[in-house]
Parts: sequence; C-alpha cells; structure tokens
Amino acid sequence: MDSTSTLTDYHLHTPLCHHANGWPVEYARVAVEKGFSELGFADHNPMREQFDDWRMALDDLPRYLEAVEEARKQFPQLPIRIGLECDFILGREEWIEELARMADWDFFIGSVHYLPEGWEVDHPKYVGRFRDGDVAQIWSDYWSVYERCIRSRLFDFVAHPDLPKKFGFRPEGDLRRYYEPVIAALVETDTAFEINTAGLRKDCRELYPAQGFLELAQASGVPLLINSDAHDPSEVGAGFAEGIAAAKAAGFTQIVRFEKRRRKALALPSASELKSVS
Ligand code: ZN
Ligand code: FE
Ligand code: FE
Repeated sequence: MDSTSTLTDYHLHTPLCHHANGWPVEYARVAVEKGFSELGFADHNPMREQFDDWRMALDDLPRYLEAVEEARKQFPQLPIRIGLECDFILGREEWIEELARMADWDFFIGSVHYLPEGWEVDHPKYVGRFRDGDVAQIWSDYWSVYERCIRSRLFDFVAHPDLPKKFGFRPEGDLRRYYEPVIAALVETDTAFEINTAGLRKDCRELYPAQGFLELAQASGVPLLINSDAHDPSEVGAGFAEGIAAAKAAGFTQIVRFEKRRRKALALPSASELKSVS
C-alpha cells in the first residue's frame, strides 16, 4: 500500500442486505490492489421489524460487525471503518439513535430512498411514477425530506444527493432551486456529503450530485467524500477518476474521513493514485 495515497471509499455494501456480493475481506483485497488507504463499510441499516427486502436483518448485525473485524484482521495495513447507510424516514428518527448505541460506529450515512408517501424513489418498480407523474413534485418532495435528514443531525454525511435523477427524469429549468436549501442545511449542521459514483452506472449516466450542486457546496465550504456505493468488490473505486475530476473542477482540495464519528480532512486524492487491476 502506498502510504501517500489519500484514496478512501466509505460506501460499501455486503451480502447481508440481500442485493450485494462479496464479503468485506474481498472488498479489502481489491481496495489494496487499487491503491486505497482506507475503507468504510456502510450496509443498509436494519429496522426493528421486517421492513423491506433490501436491508440487513437486525439479527444479522453481529455478523456484520464480525465480517468487518475479519477484514481488519486479514488486512492490518488497511484502516477499515464501520458505519451504516441509514434510511431517514420521518417519524423514525429515534430508531437511528438506538442503532447508534448498538456498536462502536465510525460513521453514519443519511440516505433518503423513501418519500413520505412510502415509496422508494430509486426503485425500478416505481419508474412509472416519473414517466407518468409530476417530476417536479417528486423532486421537491424528495429534497424537502433530504433537508430534514440533514437537519436531524443524526448523520456524519449524506448520500447520493440528487438520487431522483437515477432514471434520467429531471424537472425543467435551473436545478439550483432544489440544491440551495440543502446546502444551507449542510453548512448550518456542519454535515458532509458524498460524490457517489454509482450514478455513472445508472440510466442518468452522471455522478450524484450534478456539477452545479458540487460548485455551490464547494463555495459554501461543505466537506466532501468520494464513494463508489459498491455492491460488488469489483466496484470499489469505480468511477473515481470521474469523481475526482468533478471535485477538482468544482474547486475542492480536500476530502474527509471518519473515526469514531470524528471527522478528519485530508488532501483530495489524485486520479494517478488509482492503480489498475488486471
Ligand atoms: Zn443497496
Ligand atoms: Fe443508497
Ligand atoms: Fe448504498
């Protein structure tokens, strides 16, 4: 491992969420080969009861902790942090606080997949709601929950900001009207956000968030991470050349990482630190 690398990837899933492949040891192996200096696991958070079919069961939480511990043992040279990608659902904030007490977490990610009406904005089964519905209304519903998510102060950073563009549907006009209140919330709560490269692999073919969001966030001094949202070990660091270039173009010079929910800044990595793997 190159000790000068500042490459980190803090949004990695595991098979415990039932739609990802590869255990933490396998992600860690790929990460070391690709020149990463730190990883963070953030699988979909358990709920108290069976809630949907794409998150870990509460009973599997010990297995999650053990799997990450196993990767730490096998790759002692690679710091591996542990967190959760938590669904922010209005009215269920207390559950996130309860989860926070269940383990020695390094970070919590706040995500909005569910709109208040109870449907997942990124689930292919609901694509018709964009095709036949009011895209601007969906966007404003989403961003108002996203702002509440940030203002809950339950999270160290928030995930994939403009997720509702996933299927390629965007409202008309200047989209900064959606970004501005959210960036104000990030500033006021001192919360970070991620560039999530998974958008490059979806119909929208674009990083989450759009460049306009990045520029506003940088101008406001909001801390940044660059993450793959890998659901397979081969996706560790996927799209990072694009992610780093977008961050640089927006004027970012630093990224952040977390340990025991304390934030540290380090230099924005350069794409030349990424090693290609045969
Ligand atoms: Zn997932
Ligand atoms: Fe997500
Ligand atoms: Fe994710």
